[in-house]
Amino acid sequence: MALHGGALRFNLRLNLNYASKVCSFVSVRRFSEKLTSKPASGGGTETTGDHAIYTPEHFALKESLRKIIDQEINPHVDQWEAEGKFPAHKVFKILGSAGFLGVNKPVEYGGLGLDFSYSVAVAEELGHIRCGGVPMAIGVQSDMATPALARFGSASLKKEFLLPSIMGDKVACLGVSEVGAGSDVSSIKTKAVREGDEYVINGGKMWTTNGTQADWMCLLANTSDGPPHRNKSLICLPMNLPGVHIARKIDKMGMWSSDTAEVFFDDVHVPCKNLIGEEGMGFTYQMLQFQEERLWAVANVLTTMDVVLQDTVEYARQRSIFKQPVLYHQTVHFRLAELQTEVELLRSLLHRATALYIKGNDVTKLASMGKLKAGRLARELSDSCLQFWGGMGFTNDVMVSRFYRDSRLLSIGGGADEVMLGIICKYMDILPKK
Ligand SMILES: Cc1cc2nc3c(=O)[nH]c(=O)nc-3n(C[C@H](O)[C@H](O)[C@H](O)COP(=O)(O)OP(=O)(O)OC[C@H]3O[C@@H](n4cnc5c(N)ncnc54)[C@H](O)[C@@H]3O)c2cc1C
Repeated sequence: MALHGGALRFNLRLNLNYASKVCSFVSVRRFSEKLTSKPASGGGTETTGDHAIYTPEHFALKESLRKIIDQEINPHVDQWEAEGKFPAHKVFKILGSAGFLGVNKPVEYGGLGLDFSYSVAVAEELGHIRCGGVPMAIGVQSDMATPALARFGSASLKKEFLLPSIMGDKVACLGVSEVGAGSDVSSIKTKAVREGDEYVINGGKMWTTNGTQADWMCLLANTSDGPPHRNKSLICLPMNLPGVHIARKIDKMGMWSSDTAEVFFDDVHVPCKNLIGEEGMGFTYQMLQFQEERLWAVANVLTTMDVVLQDTVEYARQRSIFKQPVLYHQTVHFRLAELQTEVELLRSLLHRATALYIKGNDVTKLASMGKLKAGRLARELSDSCLQFWGGMGFTNDVMVSRFYRDSRLLSIGGGADEVMLGIICKYMDILPKK
């Protein structure tokens, strides 16, 4: 509990600084002065003083979050993985109370009012959670289901849905994908038809992370018969309304501790005031929301890749084969060095994209490149590392096999590799003209 107090105080100091428009971070600095030249990552040489985008405040935030992860999350991960679900309300309340669910969200709605680089720092730190499912669920809450609401939602809508999500009192989910439409978002079929001052919603969503526990969904639905990029809207949909049916919890090869639902809507009546921003702008808002989602995903997997590499180095150092440690075989240490190099390259891309994004630039191309590379590298790295663990790597007792299963999603979810390639081609102007 002392820990919560500390993190909470950290949050309050930030809030206080912002509320009084004193942006000096004096107290946070004092807090972070305790930090010495701490490496930014596995094998990294950057320190709090010379990091490309992080200030001592970023490092202090990360350290504070790390304590929560080590004391409140990691001790329970194995149990949650075995149960196929983690207690989202309980975990989000802990994180929300300490300010970690809305670092870049407005102060008046419970956020810390910081820029997106702090979200990236949080996503990186969440990579220390020893599974993929829990950080993914947290990311849905903080950086996937809520950015559009924070940017375009009305004040009353933000009060009803954003504030409690940031405080950890409500669990959010994102309803974009459907049984018949994942990569091709424009072809979703769920309809929201205006009747007086309500929308009547029919259809269904597939692959909804947090879906069995969520209090509300950021729903993408067709609100007219117009062209596919102009007929969609984002709507805050309370999940306890009559007509919302959780059809099933999907059984998956990885991300076991994250619940994934299939949801149906049968004449669900939602007030029109639950519309986020302008009607017909949902597709555009969702595409904007994807930029943050993709940068978040890159940041999160980077740390996990560092952790898995480090675990593998340690295992290979103590395990002997043919009278010497596994690590001493050149094919092993060269491969690990090559993978760490690729991780560092990806980190540079992420930090460059983040620096551009917080200055207001469109980083769709870089975010897509990062997401593509992260998915592919995670697959390569988990496969190579697992190999060096031998039979142990094939058991469910070690982190490397969990990462092997969990990280496979990165090349599929939130835009598959091929979707990323299509976006990059578009920005390079090399897509064949139709
Ligand atoms: C565990 C999990 C959690 C998820 N969480 C959420 C969530 O919270 N909210 C949500 O809305 N969605 C969620 N998703 C859905 C996810 O975003 C989709 O699975 C993803 O977008 C791919 O869509 P799809 O599964 O329908 O595959 P499809 O669209 O059917 O694509 C199948 C394959 O086709 C290939 N492909 C795609 N486009 C092209 C192209 N242009 N050219 C060539 N090949 C191509 C790719 O290899 C792709 O994997 C989740 C999925 C999973 C598995």
